[in-house]
Amino acid sequence: MRRRRLLFATLLFGLIAAFFAFDLGQYLQLEFFRSKQSAIEEFRRANPLAAAGIFFAIYVAVTGLSVPGAAVLSLVVGAIFGLLWGTLIVSFASSIGATLAFLSSRFLFREPVRSRFGDRLRAIDAGLEKEGAFYLFSLRLVPAVPFVLVNLLMGLTPIRTRTFYWVSQIGMLPATLVYVNAGTQLATLTSIRGLLSPALIGSFVLLGIFPLIARRAVEAFKAHRRLAKWPKPAKFERNLVVIGAGSAGLVTAYIAAAVRAKVTLVEKHRMGGDCLNTGCVPSKALIKSARLLAQAKRAREFGFKSMQVEFDFADVMERVQRVVRAVEPHDSVDRYTKLGVECLQGEAKITSPWTVEVKTAGGVRALTTRAIVIAAGARPFVPAIPGLAEIGCLTSESVWNLRALPPRLVVLGGGPIGCELAQCFARFGSRVTQVEMLPRLLVREDPEVSELVARQFREERIDVRVHHKAVRVLRESGEKLLVCEHDGREVRIPFDELLCAVGRVANTAGYGLEELGIGLTRARTVETDETLQTLYHNIYACGDVAGPYQFTHTASHQAWYAAVNALFGGVGKFRADYSVVPWATFTDPEVARVGLNESEAMEKNIAYDVTNYALEHLDRAIADGETKGGVKVLTVPGRDRILGATIVGEHAADLIVEFITAMKHGIGLNGILGTIHIYPTLAEANKYAAGEWKRAHAPQGLLRWAEKFHAWRRG
Ligand SMILES: Cc1cc2nc3c(=O)[nH]c(=O)nc-3n(C[C@H](O)[C@H](O)[C@H](O)COP(=O)(O)OP(=O)(O)OC[C@H]3O[C@@H](n4cnc5c(N)ncnc54)[C@H](O)[C@@H]3O)c2cc1C
Repeated sequence: MRRRRLLFATLLFGLIAAFFAFDLGQYLQLEFFRSKQSAIEEFRRANPLAAAGIFFAIYVAVTGLSVPGAAVLSLVVGAIFGLLWGTLIVSFASSIGATLAFLSSRFLFREPVRSRFGDRLRAIDAGLEKEGAFYLFSLRLVPAVPFVLVNLLMGLTPIRTRTFYWVSQIGMLPATLVYVNAGTQLATLTSIRGLLSPALIGSFVLLGIFPLIARRAVEAFKAHRRLAKWPKPAKFERNLVVIGAGSAGLVTAYIAAAVRAKVTLVEKHRMGGDCLNTGCVPSKALIKSARLLAQAKRAREFGFKSMQVEFDFADVMERVQRVVRAVEPHDSVDRYTKLGVECLQGEAKITSPWTVEVKTAGGVRALTTRAIVIAAGARPFVPAIPGLAEIGCLTSESVWNLRALPPRLVVLGGGPIGCELAQCFARFGSRVTQVEMLPRLLVREDPEVSELVARQFREERIDVRVHHKAVRVLRESGEKLLVCEHDGREVRIPFDELLCAVGRVANTAGYGLEELGIGLTRARTVETDETLQTLYHNIYACGDVAGPYQFTHTASHQAWYAAVNALFGGVGKFRADYSVVPWATFTDPEVARVGLNESEAMEKNIAYDVTNYALEHLDRAIADGETKGGVKVLTVPGRDRILGATIVGEHAADLIVEFITAMKHGIGLNGILGTIHIYPTLAEANKYAAGEWKRAHAPQGLLRWAEKFHAWRRG
């Protein structure tokens, strides 16, 4: 590909160079044509088709090579062929030429530009995918925007060639008419400068922005019609109703109260949602107990003869509940009421864009509101595997009710939740089989990260089965069995309990979305735009229900945008910023990531340099006996810009914060290297990774001079 590109570039730039070297531009001047006008006209009269063909070819060549002369050619074609034929020739030739220039730019520059700036172009690409044709049309209508520039820049975007061609042809038509028509008066024209008066350019600009304005107007009209179906209350009792008091809903309500809006938070189940009750908090509490046990089992490594830990699994699960209760006040009705939030216990249903009905213990209440934020969360997805419903399974919601340790546990799913819980149960003594249909655990992470976690799991006697697709569940001779497909044969795995952790699905039914016509995405989350607005200008969604991420920190990050846009959207709106999104899987060792990893960079064709630093070299990791894992950083080739970082190891989720901050604030690895890190800490791994990068990117030429300088000084 690179060779072909080089060959093409040589040919193209050779032709352009020849154009200038042989001063071919002199033949594309008005004076030249005027001097030859009668001869050309005579030729046209004798050979009309040949004349049209020659002018067509010259026009395509000039525009395709992006050399100057197209404007003069348009006038000349007008002078020689008249308005109708002239317009036809110029319109098709200019569109074909523009498309050739567009394709050349795409072939030569798109891949190198994408590989360098791909991650930063994502937002532009998304915008162009939606409204690219409109933007191009507007640019084409305004002749003040250089034709060549539009061709070359559009080549770098994902716009389709067919779209580029026909939009260009239609968009350039008004200016083509002006030029060709002026050409019919060539004899009276002194220069092409005066052709486009400021008034004419102004009209074109208006024409250019018209499609965008028209589109906005149509959207506004449709929005108005959508709303007109519902009676609008004369007055609103509150500014905002928030549905769901999980991470997303709580933060939304908090922000609304902080800016003195009247806000009502409705929760049908438990304040705190999944994170507090069945997600982050209980899982991390369980992980802590399991970890302590695993540490005790490593007693000899730390200089003890033995360390016996006696425990009752029920006590461990009770501690988990104690932890949940200890955190509960942070998310409680009491706290939020004191913050100024009206908290209602009940099930909410949106009955119109302005009203939410709440089914409470005391009856149904209808709340009128200016805006609504949907933060209804998600629930575990249980696939329709034959037999599973009859035999039953645990999920991340019900697992917390266990008080007896299952002797044999099947964990279905190799994602973060499955991995965290599989390791916990194995550490407490369950014989765990983890089943994943994909080729590896934690499939979003790089292969060596998955491998490290799988190796650790196997060391802890977890039976990791990748490439295993669960096909049915059955009971045979009183024993529960999971049947999987693997390598074209059936594998039977006996179990006492099966924990289903194959993903989570957004809660989108039963609270009015269908009735309001609010759509869902392909991922079955509530459809929103970049500002988190749904189909209605006053209804927003955030957190797991909106996606695309399913973390507590992204839910609360989105909540700020949902709250501010819902309350102040009339003034202006903010687009949710996902430029730096971190996450972690709290296995042992932990896996934390921000930005790109190698697999994603390759998939997106983004060029990168990779730097690795292994924890086995770090003093503190050696002292702690926690040397598994390391820091892996991706940077822009030849530049000090971090594209992403993955840390595997003890406290990786805390250590990654340095890279999150660096990426958020545009600090490079030189910045991390130049920062004093406390010795001996695990955080030094970040600095040493930066050091590795620096060593690999040291200016060799300068170092050779330095060597000579020192040799000279030694005498
Ligand atoms: C086992 C597990 C471990 C996890 N660990 C982590 C972790 O370590 N870090 C991390 O960042 N994330 C973790 N997560 C994910 C995290 O819990 C979720 O991303 C987060 O809870 C999403 O918050 P939310 O507000 O969008 O939804 P939720 O927390 O689900 O809240 C939605 C709330 O809306 C209520 N609701 C729904 N419909 C209605 C209605 N009609 N009327 C009234 N109320 C309604 C629900 O009852 C619920 O309380 C974990 C999840 C699980 C399951």
